Amino acid sequence: MLTWTLPPALAARARAGALPHGWILAGAGEPELEEAARTLAAAFLCQDPDRRPCGTCKHCRKVEKGVHPDLQWVEKYPDKRQLVVEQIRALRSDAYIRPNEAERKVYILQNAQQMNDEAQNAFLKVLEEGPEYAVFLLLSENHLALLPTIRSRCELLRLTGAEAGGDSLRLGGELAGLLLGGDRWRLLAWCVPWEKAGREDVVALWKAARETLLTCRDPASLPRAVRLAQTLGELLSLAQGSGNLGVLWGRLYAAQE
Ligand SMILES: [Zn+2]
Repeated sequence: MLTWTLPPALAARARAGALPHGWILAGAGEPELEEAARTLAAAFLCQDPDRRPCGTCKHCRKVEKGVHPDLQWVEKYPDKRQLVVEQIRALRSDAYIRPNEAERKVYILQNAQQMNDEAQNAFLKVLEEGPEYAVFLLLSENHLALLPTIRSRCELLRLTGAEAGGDSLRLGGELAGLLLGGDRWRLLAWCVPWEKAGREDVVALWKAARETLLTCRDPASLPRAVRLAQTLGELLSLAQGSGNLGVLWGRLYAAQE
């Protein structure tokens, strides 16, 4: 069963065949993003003109069973830390082979923020110049880390429907947790994609992390939370000026120790 349903406005656009071919799905955890992507993919592949996805045509059923030949899930190789350019090149060649059964071909990129710069640039080309029938759904718990050029060419679908800034609040909470947790490698792995993010996004993230730290109620963590919040406050005022963000990230990592 397709467990997620398109919001009404989106469903109307799907019926009208008026959905753009580039999407970023964000604002939720991986399982929710995957469920939403499955439904949105079915909306592109479904053959019922009155209700897309109908849930009953052969395309919808194949999507549900995970056997639709025109739907591909792309994720990083298990032995790699990032989605590499070879995968995007393979996707590009595949995109030029016409669909097997449906009228569209859908690619779902899981953890799209794991594309390294080279992969993101290659992807941007496919997004701009790929064949008309190709559709790309980028799933990301950290979509602000995608290149602005990619973000500006995709429609953002936020699953939580949270108020503006809801995303940075949630992500700020995650960052605060990692800073408090003291596991350096987890912190670095989480932050790496953010090192490419723009100043405004970083400022919003750090503000949210600082707010979370200031609401810490655990007496054992409190002194550490206060110290980290203080450091974030200093880094924020530098980031809001013209402080070098790379240097500021380094100072934040050092503050965790
Ligand atoms: Zn259908």
